Amino acid sequence: MGIKSFDQKRCISGCNICIEDCPMDVFVLDAKVGKAKVAHAGDCWECLLCGEKCPGKAIQISPSAARKLWYPY
Ligand code: SF4
Ligand code: SF4
Repeated sequence: MGIKSFDQKRCISGCNICIEDCPMDVFVLDAKVGKAKVAHAGDCWECLLCGEKCPGKAIQISPSAARKLWYPY
């Protein structure tokens, strides 16, 4: 399923962790507000990294059943 939800209101301006760390470049900088936004949701491969690292808890990832078999955490 990938990205279950993204709440830009919770994103901390200037953080950029998800933009820099996502291996699939799912996030980009929304220059209008200086926060992250989802640009390529379909490219998410559910590694869970962004959801765990986000200090604002803005991102929720919902791993597919198949992924859970490989990454049971
Ligand atoms: S990791 Fe969270 S707080 Fe940081 S830029 Fe991404 S959405 Fe914003
Ligand atoms: S779960 Fe991984 S691939 Fe998906 S958006 Fe987050 S960091 Fe990128």
